[in-house]
Amino acid sequence: MRDGPTSADAVIEDLASIIEPALVGSTGPRYFGFVIGGALDAATAADVLTTGWDQNAFNAITSPAAAIVEDVAGTWLKELLGLPSDASFGFVTGGQAANTVSLAAARHHVLAKVGWDVERDGLNGSPRVRVVATGERHATIDMALRLLGFGAGTLEPVATDSQGAIDVADLAFILKNSPPGPTIVCLQAGNVNTGAFDDLATAIAMAHGHDAWVHVDGAFGLWAAANPPTRHLVAGVELADSWATDGHKWLNVPYDSGYAFCAHPAAHAAALSYSAAYVKGQGEGDLRAPGDFVPESSRRARGFATWAALRQLGRHDLAELIERCCALARRFAEQLMLIEGVTILNDVVLNQVLVRFGNDNETERVIRAIQHSGECWMGSTSWHGVRAMRISVSNWRTSEADVDRSVQAILAALSTG
Ligand SMILES: *Cc1c(COP(=O)(O)O)cnc(C)c1O
Repeated sequence: MRDGPTSADAVIEDLASIIEPALVGSTGPRYFGFVIGGALDAATAADVLTTGWDQNAFNAITSPAAAIVEDVAGTWLKELLGLPSDASFGFVTGGQAANTVSLAAARHHVLAKVGWDVERDGLNGSPRVRVVATGERHATIDMALRLLGFGAGTLEPVATDSQGAIDVADLAFILKNSPPGPTIVCLQAGNVNTGAFDDLATAIAMAHGHDAWVHVDGAFGLWAAANPPTRHLVAGVELADSWATDGHKWLNVPYDSGYAFCAHPAAHAAALSYSAAYVKGQGEGDLRAPGDFVPESSRRARGFATWAALRQLGRHDLAELIERCCALARRFAEQLMLIEGVTILNDVVLNQVLVRFGNDNETERVIRAIQHSGECWMGSTSWHGVRAMRISVSNWRTSEADVDRSVQAILAALSTG
């Protein structure tokens, strides 16, 4: 740290030159690690403008522009994702925050129904809340339960099938084998390894039969709803009580961008707001106060980048983006399947492909060799006790040529063994 100032230009030049070697090319078309997504041009530019405009998106007084654009973008998102048009929503930092916000609304709702005001009285001495969740849930569900005072260890996990989708018979068993009471059920649309979907229609009906709140974590999988050929994967999703998804994954909005939706706007606002503004028409005049539906007070105007992404794509190109990524995932699987010693471990129903090269050691070796090639990047994961390479196709720029070139890189890595 220097004592004296440095010119802004020099600071930026230094920053860029110093960090450049340590940047990850995750916006590139052959980056298939985790479920990262890229960044659409309009969304990136809107995000830069967001920084320059430096609006505080707390409410319609601090920034009418931010409040209006979030309102419009949120309405578009509900329509594209097939969620109820009267659902409330919050623009948050990502899936972790969206799961936390959703479960905070759930906590409020299930306890209010038994006469307990959790915002006022907390969980000390409250009626017990059961949290039932798919055994294949994302770790951010556990984290949300920790933050909300439930404790991750109190969660009752439900068995899953070979693809990681919830076993609805086990869900029925777990729900039945306990006295009735406040209950939250967490389901998943899009497993991070396989892309598998819980049978939402069946599981939601079952949980509602026990008067439970149903939350669906669809950080990337919920986008299947925006594409007619994959929409069946989320059949019934609109019947849930809350939903979490990301903008910064498959929608290709830059970080950070996530959304929490809730079928019970009053519960959502009661859990997250500290003013009573939502009671009278949700904010200043008729404008919704974005800050009433998220944990932050002063906050970035996240609506601009989402609005820009949705506007650049339109309904048609968004569907095409989702469909293309799925088709490219199938292309990977079809080509890799033909290679001796390569096994595809999952049913490729979405954009995720799990690949195994013989045994754990060879799988790790091949993944490292691919990563070092610089041709493409795939990560490693564990699936049902074995090591696997995970391919996630979620970047708007990825083409068939990128897949074919990456398959060549995989072949080359295999042959160097
Ligand atoms: C990525 C992911 C999350 C967490 O989202 P972040 O945006 O990383 O906070 C939660 N659930 C699922 C299924 C995910 O894929």
